[in-house]
Formats: sequence, structure tokens, C-alpha cells
Amino acid sequence: MSEPFAATAADVLVVGSLNMDLRIRTPRLPAPGETLTGSGFDTDGGGKGANQAVAAARQGARVAMLGAVGQDAHGAALLAALQADGIDTGAVERIAGMPSGTAAILLMPDGENSIVVIAGANHALTPERVRAQAGRLRQARVVVAQLECPLDAVTEALTIAREAGAITVLNAAPVQPLDDALLGQLDWLVVNEIEAAALAGMPVPGPTEAREVAERLRQRGPRQVLVTLGAEGLVLAGPEGTLALPAPRVQAVDTTGAGDTVVGALAAALAAGRPLREALVRAQAAAALAVTRLGTQSAMPTAAEVDRLVA
Ligand code: ATP
Repeated sequence: MSEPFAATAADVLVVGSLNMDLRIRTPRLPAPGETLTGSGFDTDGGGKGANQAVAAARQGARVAMLGAVGQDAHGAALLAALQADGIDTGAVERIAGMPSGTAAILLMPDGENSIVVIAGANHALTPERVRAQAGRLRQARVVVAQLECPLDAVTEALTIAREAGAITVLNAAPVQPLDDALLGQLDWLVVNEIEAAALAGMPVPGPTEAREVAERLRQRGPRQVLVTLGAEGLVLAGPEGTLALPAPRVQAVDTTGAGDTVVGALAAALAAGRPLREALVRAQAAAALAVTRLGTQSAMPTAAEVDRLVA
């Protein structure tokens, strides 16, 4: 009660990473000590947190981001990109003496890529910095986190949000062991089949096993467990049992960020109070549209585009 209220309450507060993607097109990987001439270069906003924030904002939610970037040019550009999507960046701290999160991506002609990620300022997100934003966390309807920031900070954010009655969503990517105390704070655990297999300690070769693994993960505490299965769609285990939804059939050209689009669009739909099945259908429609276009944030659709696909 003594916390100051945030200036504006967000529908969706995303706690997570912001990275600058530096993409070089190369004919092949250079050998050790070799210098190659590439054929193109571009930069793009990335990081699972920022991607999910953009996906939610495009669906019409009022979105705020909680995270950290460096006091460098990449940090300024990352904030400007989120602001261009109407996202409140007031809770993104600029950390002195650390670079912004960076992903160096070597993209080969066949679409294969090799990536090195530097967490940089993303790792400066501490439980103390999260607590300093407790007012925003308490006012949000939906709080979304991933695991590219330190686990203790993520846990703190989800705990504050849960106590305040927000809907809590954890996308457990990149996957790491999670204790049941954290899983018990979750309204939603969202994982792809690889992450589900790692967390549950069993393989997920197809939708049948995905139902089983989702149920098994639900026993550990989350109210809903959503397992995404790429072009095969998703399965959900919840209090009413399990549900499988096929993905819309589309011609995929770039599936990068499909999972982030599902998480962000789901958060927006939950914040808008949409019924469960409709929220899942919209989240899948958003991801299906995103995979038909090149790019990650730039490929994420608007609510109007999703309306047309689900009509
Ligand atoms: P990424 O790591 O590439 O962001 P992910 O592995 O986290 O993705 P996926 O399970 O591959 O997540 O995809 C998430 C969702 O995106 C799927 O549940 C589905 O709704 C949609 N999707 C992914 N690939 C396709 C596709 N080829 N066609 C239609 N929908 C797709």
C-alpha cells in the first residue's frame, strides 16, 4: 500500500530481455583465423522480452516493459523501437558500464544461422530493480516473463504480480531447471516441445505425448500449461482437462519469433478478457501470420490482421 502508483497502468507488463540483433549475410561460416566478405548487414530489435512486448502491443494492448539496456547507442535504439509501437519504456533502466544485450547472427544462404548472444545489461536486472517497479507490477492485468534475465529477478516479479492478483505468464525459454515454488506462482507456463521435454524429463515426439507432458507439468503447479508444437499447433492442459488446437495452414517463410508472437498475443487477449479458446485461437493466428513474413518484430501482425484471419 505504501508503493507509489505508476503513472499509467499497463494491460500487459513484460519483464524481460532486450537485445540488438546484428545480422550479417555470409556465404558460409569463416574458418578459424579466416576473414570472409559478407553480402549484407542489418540490425533489428530482438530479445524475447522485447519481442513479446511488441507482439502484445500490435494486438492493441497497453504494454509496458521492465528490463535493462546499456547507456550505448543500441540501448537508445532499442527503446526508440519499442516506443514506436506505443510501449511504455519507463521501467527499462539504462545501466552504465555495460553493453546492451547483443546477438551476432551469421546468416547463410540456405537460411541456416549461427548466433552468439551477449546478455549484457539484461543480466543487470536484479530483484532490487524489480522491487523498485513493484507499483507497475501490481497495477498490470497480465505480467509476462521469460528466462533471458536472471531467475531471481524473474521470480521476484512473478511473485509480486501474483500477490497483487495479476495473471502471471512464464515462457520458460531458454529452458533451465525450475523449482515448484516458482511454477506454483504461474497462471500460465508456455513452452515449446523441446522446453517441455527438458522440464518434464521425457521426450515429446508428437501431440499425444505433448498432452501427457503438459498434464505432467501442470501437476507441478501452473494453472495452465501451453505446449507449442510449431506447424502442428498447440496443446493446453488446464483445470478443465486438455485441449489441442491445430495451427492455421500457411506458407511459412521465417519461423523466428513464432513462440514470442504466441506469448505476446496470448497476453493481450487475456488482458482484454477474451475467453480461453478465443485467446488461443487469436494467439495462433498471430503466429501463423508472423511466420509468413521475413523478420521477427517487423513480421508481427496487428489486431485487424488477426481479426480477418479468425473471422
Ligand atoms: P521460435 O523459437 O521460432 O520463436 P518456438 O519453438 O518457441 O518458436 P513453435 O512451437 O515453433 O515455437 O511455434 C509457436 C507457434 O507458432 C505454434 O504453436 C503455431 O501456432 C505457430 N507456428 C509455428 N510454425 C508455424 C507454421 N509453420 N505454420 C503455422 N503456424 C506456425
